[in-house]
Amino acid sequence: MLSTRGYATRGATLPFEPFSFNRREPRPHDVLIEIMYCGVCHSDIHTARNEWGGTRYPLVPGHEIVGRVVSVGSEVTRFATGDIAGVGCFVDSCRECDSCRAGEEQYCERHLMMTYNSLEDGGKTPTYGGYSSQIVVDENYVLTIPDNLPLEGVAPLLCAGITTYSPLRRFNVGAGQRVGVVGLGGLGHMAVKLASAMGAHVTVLSTSNSKESDARRLGADDFVLTRDPKNLKPLAGQLDFIIDTVSAPHDLNVYLDLLKRRGSMVLVGVPPEPAAVAAFSLIGKGRVLAGSKIGGIRETQEMLQYCGEHGITSDVEVIPIQDIESAYERTIKGDVRYRFVIDMKSL
Ligand code: NAP
Ligand code: ZN
Ligand code: ZN
Repeated sequence: MLSTRGYATRGATLPFEPFSFNRREPRPHDVLIEIMYCGVCHSDIHTARNEWGGTRYPLVPGHEIVGRVVSVGSEVTRFATGDIAGVGCFVDSCRECDSCRAGEEQYCERHLMMTYNSLEDGGKTPTYGGYSSQIVVDENYVLTIPDNLPLEGVAPLLCAGITTYSPLRRFNVGAGQRVGVVGLGGLGHMAVKLASAMGAHVTVLSTSNSKESDARRLGADDFVLTRDPKNLKPLAGQLDFIIDTVSAPHDLNVYLDLLKRRGSMVLVGVPPEPAAVAAFSLIGKGRVLAGSKIGGIRETQEMLQYCGEHGITSDVEVIPIQDIESAYERTIKGDVRYRFVIDMKSL
């Protein structure tokens, strides 16, 4: 077993602390990665605080992982020692169901093994995430990283990047379309960069007055402060597509009303409580309300290539792991510009 250092929380209201655990010895198809950077996703916070239920403690979160390959199993063909590699939200799946065969492993119908808070080895060992020194992953679930991008800004692409890229592609977002991005945090700022690179006219819908100049710098054409409902009036029936990245309870109907005839809104944010949707918000203009979860390995690789070609990375604030508690508090307050990324040298 490989002795590994990390940071874990042992309960929903307990602080993070140093934690030692074992990773499996690399198998023939495994890659051992020394972790350099790990992004802090709001899903880490929901899970650490058991807001969705089902958290296993001790929990080592982190699923926006970039690092260096330090050894490879005997059958590995896609990676060599010294390569830079990435790991996202899941580390294995059944590989046989319809979703896995379609390259949409994130919707695996049998067993999607998440990077943390899942069980491996036939249900015996918890998976531990990227707030740690190293990780062992089957090469089929490891991503190749473009060589022209700063690695601390690449880490968030492994979750925030693919989670926004995938629905933008699925709904054919592009030039001539008006796109709304609800919430300018980790996911939201990636949605702005990607939708704007794809040629769409982007409007940020935010509760934070202080984010307007950043929104425009990131590529938005318009900014609407949603705290005052009258600011939304001129946008009624104007947008082709909305991506909702909000992590806390909010009224979906307010945003559905901004869609054109047959416009679509996709939910990627996961507030712990269900939302109420008025049927009239949808049927009046034949609107679509959809959901989307991360993206498959193939599409994640495509997204990384797209970001390499367009020079897109996340805007990050790099922190030592000892600052994880204050990073969580600031993220919850919406005070994030626009992703905290842990420098694993601090571990
Ligand atoms: P984040 O960085 O905290 O951003 C969320 C943003 O939502 C905030 O910056 C804020 O933006 C807005 N917001 C927060 N509280 C709000 C409230 N009460 N009312 C209205 N707006 C509010 O979080 P994230 O990492 O981007 O993640 C966002 C959500 O997506 C989380 O629920 C996370 O679990 C989920 N997620 C889903 C997937 C998936 O596969 N579907 C993948 C990753 C994450 P403003 O200041 O601009 O209002
Ligand atoms: Zn995430
Ligand atoms: Zn499957």
